Amino acid sequence: MARLGSWIDPHPEGIFVKPANAWVDPSQPKDRALVTHGHSDHASGGHGQVWATPETLGIMDIRCGPQNGVQMTYGKVVRLGEVEISYVPAGHCLGSAQIVMDHGGERVVVSGDYKRRPDPSCMPFQPVPCDIFITEATFGLPVFRHPDTGSEMDRLLERLHANPERCVLVGAYALGKAQRVICELRQRGHHDPIYIHGAVERLCLLYEEFGVNLGELRFATGVKKDELKGRIVIAPPSALNDRWSRRLPDPITAMASGWMRIRQRARQKNVELPLIISDHADWDELTATLVELAPKEVWVTHGREEALIHWCAMRQMKARELNLIGREDEDE
Ligand SMILES: [Zn+2]
Ligand SMILES: [Zn+2]
Repeated sequence: MARLGSWIDPHPEGIFVKPANAWVDPSQPKDRALVTHGHSDHASGGHGQVWATPETLGIMDIRCGPQNGVQMTYGKVVRLGEVEISYVPAGHCLGSAQIVMDHGGERVVVSGDYKRRPDPSCMPFQPVPCDIFITEATFGLPVFRHPDTGSEMDRLLERLHANPERCVLVGAYALGKAQRVICELRQRGHHDPIYIHGAVERLCLLYEEFGVNLGELRFATGVKKDELKGRIVIAPPSALNDRWSRRLPDPITAMASGWMRIRQRARQKNVELPLIISDHADWDELTATLVELAPKEVWVTHGREEALIHWCAMRQMKARELNLIGREDEDE
């Protein structure tokens, strides 16, 4: 009998699915790419054909130029060569998908990036039992346990309200984190205008086009200092310490990222208010997902593989490490 998953061929530049003649999240141009989501370490330009959710195709059009796209709405099952393929929500950002592939009586699920906790800006992760679960491990160490998102948002709002002469400048990646932070604020009853940096504008509009209500957004650039007092400003992390931020009224610099768990990272970026808000599964979510899905094998793509592989070995769950390159996440 052939080895389990012998039709799946991991390469440093992506996962090749032989009987479909297609690559999952290739970092090099390929004839046919199956793309899990729009972050640049998974979605790159230059492919002959891109199979992705309509949301991801919209994101790629903005970031990589027009795509020759094949729309995979969630749940639609399509036969590609000798493989049945469907995309189900991964809960990571707008349009993010796990790719479910059935071939020769085996089911393989590529999770892409995922998280399990609620996110008002995208569809929740849908567990799909499978023979092989190909998982990320960005926060695959027991030290990474993300706190409750609501309590992090409360800290942000408390600081804002206690400092009416200042603004809170939140560094958040332009795709996913920025829109999620806005939605979380709205959910907690913050309905004031939120000011945004130009780099997040088009993606915010795209979220709105796909039905995610972000409330009143205004441009932060060119606005008088006084108008920004007592306001929240969202900008990409790269803008936190650059010239752009000097026009803001005595900003309280915050950053929304899973890496804010590490104090040194917060200090390096001069972050006064670190907010531990992540779009990746933490250690508990990673391991709980493996328990829930109970796959015959776990393949770990990127992040801190060793601890997760050790955890699997302790539970007689077969696990291996895939050496994909270039997967250090932009979204965290
Ligand atoms: Zn991602
Ligand atoms: Zn990633």
